[in-house]
Amino acid sequence: MRASLLNLVTLREDPAEAEIASHRLLLRAGYLYKSGAGLYLYGPLLTRVLDRIKRIVADEISAAGGLEVTMPIMQEQALWERSGRWATYQASRTMLTVTDRNGQKFGLAPTAEEVVTDYAGSVVQSYKQLPVTFFQQHTKFRDEIRPRFGLMRVKEFIMMDAYSFHANDESLTRTYELMRIAYHRIFARMGLEAFAVEADAGAIGGSGSHEFMVAADVGEDTILFSSVSGYAANVERARGVMPAAKPWTCSELTQVYTPGSSSIEAVVAVLKVNHDLDIDASRVIKTLVYRVELQPFGAGPVGHIVAVLVRGDREVNEVKLLNAARRAFLQQEVLSVRKLRDDEPVSLPMGYVGPGPGMHLSYTIADESLKGVGPMVVGANKKDYHLIGFDLERDADPKVTRSLTWDDITTYHAGDGCPLSGEPLQERRGIEVGHVFKLGTKYSAAMKAEFMAEDGKRQPFVMGCYGIGSSRVAAAAVEQHHDADGITWPVSIAPFQCAVLPVGKPGDQAVDAAAKAIYDQLRAAGIDVVLDDRDLKPGPKFKDWDLIGVPYRIVCGRGVAEGVVELKHRAGGAVETVPLATAAERVNTLVREALTKLG
Ligand code: ATP
Ligand code: MG
Repeated sequence: MRASLLNLVTLREDPAEAEIASHRLLLRAGYLYKSGAGLYLYGPLLTRVLDRIKRIVADEISAAGGLEVTMPIMQEQALWERSGRWATYQASRTMLTVTDRNGQKFGLAPTAEEVVTDYAGSVVQSYKQLPVTFFQQHTKFRDEIRPRFGLMRVKEFIMMDAYSFHANDESLTRTYELMRIAYHRIFARMGLEAFAVEADAGAIGGSGSHEFMVAADVGEDTILFSSVSGYAANVERARGVMPAAKPWTCSELTQVYTPGSSSIEAVVAVLKVNHDLDIDASRVIKTLVYRVELQPFGAGPVGHIVAVLVRGDREVNEVKLLNAARRAFLQQEVLSVRKLRDDEPVSLPMGYVGPGPGMHLSYTIADESLKGVGPMVVGANKKDYHLIGFDLERDADPKVTRSLTWDDITTYHAGDGCPLSGEPLQERRGIEVGHVFKLGTKYSAAMKAEFMAEDGKRQPFVMGCYGIGSSRVAAAAVEQHHDADGITWPVSIAPFQCAVLPVGKPGDQAVDAAAKAIYDQLRAAGIDVVLDDRDLKPGPKFKDWDLIGVPYRIVCGRGVAEGVVELKHRAGGAVETVPLATAAERVNTLVREALTKLG
């Protein structure tokens, strides 16, 4: 490829809207063009990078048994009604919908479980065809609340999504493991340092899931891990051991006057000053009032008011709470959970609500850390009063006791104990680049996608699903591979592997001829090479290729007269002087070695 035909347009200044390195550099180097809010045009260079990423992904998923297909992006509402997810996705407003001229509604694929389950139900008849995995790399749409950070979080993006179908759980576990290995190979081949963590399954659902994270300070996910036990989990789902509540003996339940103390800090302060009680927030039960939106079978959505209890020094984890609500309201589809708004009427003295007498709520979900914790302080369900010496298992309102569910609904932090080793957990940030789920029969049972089992009976498929954010991966790669001058792509996903720059004096035909010869040799050797034949001074040429991030650069300049050229390694900046005659061979060796090392 000749650079003069590439329409290279690079910016010298950082675009104001870009906060993180990948967004800034991809815009500056002309990879990306903002076409609308959260919408991007992928330029010629990015298209090359994405092709390389997609090729590696397809290679490894195929090697793990995947069959590549292409599914429609427009998905009929009726199909989503069959799985029961139309309502869930409408409630969370993550699905973009379109209506055709006949008034029929479609969702624009946020994911494709429904489409592929329906397909498998039709083309897979017998256990003899199992297991089978279908995958695609196609456009997905999600109406994100906050599209940001360039390719990281967009409304329209490219995802590799794979779906596996099995006769039983053992077969699913085997494929799940194969996929996890494939993922490790995929990210290693792209030069990305990625690691697997336990994850929440979100709206996709299922019984087990892992996310693949690329470590980066700008990552939107928080990971808790222990280097002692190897435990690693997304904070949305991480378990842990809380430090014990502050020691306190108080066997008698007493109502105390706590004026103007509707917050935890205020009640702790008032109890200290007015009642000489030396406790802290760990001895208070935080009672929050939530609204859980449900879709009972065969009826419209309804809302329940639910009391949510956590220790006073901790927060409610709303991802865990949604899962807990799904477990608590088994017979109904839980659409969403949210804290009650101030303007929503509820006959309770907000700020003084507690699980003791008079709470009048039919549902309570309490964090497991409150089990057997001993005496606590709770709101007395009366403005300006609290109860002290409250034992949840002994003193709860009978209505609360009847409906109480214990679950893990709180957020753990760095410093809490590791659930495996007890050692303090550590924290780091990560970019989620991939996700694997064990779905079980959630979709196949709902959609009646069945096969003939060995015993002649019809059974729903056991399923798994697997996603990689192919376009987000490009941004994550830039986060891990850049320096002050620009991007330092790993060879496997760079838009070009080598750039050849003639930088002779105007009209220096020897230099141009040397550059052209090396360029031709590299092309013949199968190297992805670009010849910078643009009529530019050396400085701007160097700057452009540093910014664009091509891994190897051959500069043909003054040395040509003595039969040498300069070979620069973009990452690390090493420079070699190599004979003109063997320069192409040297680059060829370097590229092959780098690719072999990546795997
Ligand atoms: P997130 O938590 O970041 O919103 P998710 O868990 O909802 O992502 P999945 O349903 O697991 O996403 O989708 C599979 C992969 O698709 C993710 O691991 C991620 O790499 C990518 N992805 C998801 N949403 C987006 C988006 N809005 N923009 C770019 N890539 C995305
Ligand atoms: Mg995910």
